[in-house]
This record gives sequence, C-alpha cells and structure tokens, in this order.
Amino acid sequence: ASQYRLERVLIIGLGLIGGSLAKALKTRSCVGEVVGADRSQDECRLGLQLGVIDRVAEDLPTEVSAADLIVLAVPVKAMETVLEQIRPHLRLQTLVTDVGSTKGNLVQAARRIFGHLPGTFIPGHPIAGAEKSGVRASDADLFEHHKVILTPLPETDPNATLELARLWQAVGAEVLQMDVGRHDEVLAATSHLPHLLAFSLVDTLAREEENLDIFRYAAGGFRDFTRIAASDPTMWHDICIANRDAILAQIDRYTAGVTRLRGAIEQGDSEGMLGIFTRAKAARDHFT
Ligand code: NAD
Repeated sequence: ASQYRLERVLIIGLGLIGGSLAKALKTRSCVGEVVGADRSQDECRLGLQLGVIDRVAEDLPTEVSAADLIVLAVPVKAMETVLEQIRPHLRLQTLVTDVGSTKGNLVQAARRIFGHLPGTFIPGHPIAGAEKSGVRASDADLFEHHKVILTPLPETDPNATLELARLWQAVGAEVLQMDVGRHDEVLAATSHLPHLLAFSLVDTLAREEENLDIFRYAAGGFRDFTRIAASDPTMWHDICIANRDAILAQIDRYTAGVTRLRGAIEQGDSEGMLGIFTRAKAARDHFT
C-alpha cells in the first residue's frame, strides 16, 4: 500500500478517466473515501455497484465543501459548467484539479469564473486512455507507467502542486510540469494530430460504399495506424473546438510534409523519399 493518503476525494465525471482514478486510489488505499458525481444516474449506480467509488454524491454543494480534493473528469466542454457549480461551495484549502485533454480553455474559463484563481487550483492531464469510455471501461492500472502533465499557474501554491504530484505518483504515474500554452501545443502534435489523421484516413477510405470491402484486405499496418479512429467522436469534437489554433497549426505543418512527400514521389526523387523515410525511421526507432 502507498504511504500517500487523503481523506476525502470527490470525482465529478465517472467515466473512463474519472472511474480509473477512483479505482486506482481505492485499490492502493490512498484515500479514506472516494465520492463520485456524474450527471448520469446510471454511471453513478454502476460506479457504486462495481465498487469503483464508495459513495454517490447526493448533494453536490455538501460534497464540494467536505472534499479535500476535487477532480473534474468531465468532457472538456463541460468543465466550465462544473467549475461554476462548485465555486460557491469550495473551501480555501481544497485542492482542485482536472484531467481534461486541453488546458487553455479550462484556464480561461476558470479565470472568468473565479476572478483571482485559488492557489489550490492545478490543471492536469493524464497521458493515458483508451478508445473506450464509461465507468465500465475503468481500469485501476490505467496510469501505471504513464505520464501526467500538471500545468500550475502563476497563482498556484507550489505546495498544492507537490501534493497533487504525490497523488498521481501514488497511482503509478510519472509527473511532469509544463505551462498551459506549451501543453496545448505539444498535445496538438503528439495526440490530437494523430487522432485526426486516423479519423480522416478511415473516413476517406470508407466514404465510397464499395470501399468498405477493401478493409477486408487491410493488414497489421492499417490496424495499428487506425486503432484510435475508434475513439469517442464527441470527445474529439470537443477537443478540436477547445484547442483549435494549435491543432490548425499542426494540420498545416503536416499538410506541408505530405505535400513534400507527394512531390518526391511524383518526381521520382529517390533521395527525397529516402531522406523522409530514413529520418522518420531513425526518430521512431529512438522513441520505442
Ligand atoms: P467518459 O465519456 O468516459 O466520461 C465522462 C463522464 O462525464 C460521463 O460519465 C458523463 O456522464 C459525465 N458528464 C458529462 N457532463 C457532465 C456534467 N456537466 N456534470 C457531471 N458529469 C458529467 O470520458 P473520459 O474518457 O473519461 O474523459 C473525461 C475527461 O478526460 C475528458 O475531459 C477528456 O478530455 C479527458 N481525457 C480522456 C482520455 C481518454 O483517452 N479517454 C485521456 C486523457 C484525458
């Protein structure tokens, strides 16, 4: 069992990520009690039945004022509404974090809602997930050996960041810190762009009715490349809206790259093609 311990954690949004964090904390005995809230009664009931949480929040204001840590694990688009709901009931010392895939929009909403941000507000993002959603898909080991990025703000109390980092470490994650803008740029490149390419490739191929048949001939490469095209459409819609500018910049960079490759193929430019493939292979081999 981990040495880290908090008395009461309130998780708002009991889906894949919220449910996994609840399970991870409970199985490692890191918390006295995990209380769950979700706008879906079914997810709450299921969370309780599956033992993911100890209790369902019947009255959100009461639970907010009783919590030591509040984790917002709702879709990116719903973060603002939930911040609005919790703000009047927050105690000064309660840590508040989130797990959203984009950070700039959250911080903007928080500044609007709080005015001066509390020192205990630390945005976060676990770089772990799956193409599944809902509490049923939650996994106590989801964060083991995965990175979690915290994006503390100038107002954030360094002790609050330290405390939250210890919690993520207790569930097996490696914690990194970054500023909000850098987070959104990095994630646009390493997560958002590949998901959008996978969606776009499968959509382009599937657009023609007769093309559905060609999937029968697709092998491992296609499967590996397109696994993430099975991700939740609404979640990706929200991410595109929330991180629009950084995503557009990455799409433009990628388009320029593909145009360079197209040109090399068209010209029969072996040096150009081999240059691209060799550099990419070396970078990918290094990555493992
Ligand atoms: P999910 O769909 O599995 O769960 C989201 C839950 O939030 C649902 O149970 C839904 O009922 C609930 N919800 C929606 N609006 C709400 C509201 N206003 N109040 C209370 N509950 C509400 O989604 P998920 O995959 O767990 O994603 C949650 C967050 O984690 C998102 O912000 C997402 O960007 C982020 N994230 C996801 C992944 C991933 O791979 N799935 C990885 C890292 C971060």
